[in-house]
Amino acid sequence: MAVKFKDYYEILGVKRDATEDQIRQAFRKLARKHHPDLNPGDKSAEERFKEINEANEVLSDSEKRKRYDQLGANWQNGAEFTPPPGWGRVNVDYEDLSSVFGGGGFSDFFESLFGGGRSAGQADARRRSSRRRANGQDAEAEMEISLEDAHRGGRHRITLQSVRVCPTCNGSGTAGGNVCPTCRGAGQVVSPKNIDVNIPPGAREGSVIKLSKQGQSGQNGGEPGDLFIKLKIKPHQRFTVSGDDITTEVPITASEAVLGSSIEVPTIDSKAEMKIPAGSQGGQRLRLKGQGLNKRGGGRGDQYIRLKIVVPTHPTEREKQLYKELDETSQFKPRSG
Ligand SMILES: [Zn+2]
Repeated sequence: MAVKFKDYYEILGVKRDATEDQIRQAFRKLARKHHPDLNPGDKSAEERFKEINEANEVLSDSEKRKRYDQLGANWQNGAEFTPPPGWGRVNVDYEDLSSVFGGGGFSDFFESLFGGGRSAGQADARRRSSRRRANGQDAEAEMEISLEDAHRGGRHRITLQSVRVCPTCNGSGTAGGNVCPTCRGAGQVVSPKNIDVNIPPGAREGSVIKLSKQGQSGQNGGEPGDLFIKLKIKPHQRFTVSGDDITTEVPITASEAVLGSSIEVPTIDSKAEMKIPAGSQGGQRLRLKGQGLNKRGGGRGDQYIRLKIVVPTHPTEREKQLYKELDETSQFKPRSG
């Protein structure tokens, strides 16, 4: 029986080497445009819509696409076509679209390639077998925590936008001949998902936490994938981090630097008393041993204090007088010699 050849690539407007993604995108775009609901009473839009679905049915399925490609690229859309000798029929799983289109969902061309005239029972069996079990993919997310949280660890909740295949239409974008009401034709749904993450003490920028089976959900009973959370540490207003060590800048007066002093400095846990030796210089680094970040597996880094000598911007008359006396009396000449 001679039928009209259908160039499915031309129908979807994609190249013969188009990727699965390109095919899916082209199909969704065209299906939305020619959907019968958007073109009521338009017979040609309805025909076009059927054609688009049929093209997608073949090109989005690697087995059917391979078989279709065997026909070669020389066929013109609409040319008289007879399957090659010995073509025979093969059992290829496909979704029965007759429920969507009210019968006669596929063209004679399609039926001549992939078989047709199936009973309802066969169609059901095929539909079931085409729903393959598939494990979900791994997912990645980024989470920003404070330096204190990275140091101490603890439980944190994050909300992820989880994308999954639309459960109503199984990704086709249509249900019962209409645009799927759940996903509005997109084929996937996005929903917020709260996940509690246990951060171990000693986490660092770029640490990755694996949450088993919290990735994308599997299909038809398949296992979910894993979720990998990459930690980012928010910049701290006091401390800068270098490996296990932290540094903070502390302002001191000129007389504290000259005479030495004992001052209070902030630490990641609370604060500490620190001795400033007499004769300390601005920019000098002093070490607070073991006051740095917790290390994974125990131990701690160090904290460094960078001294910053500051002077009053609005000295009192008395202060001015004392500085003047000091200047006249002092032997200290920093720029001589
Ligand atoms: Zn849907």
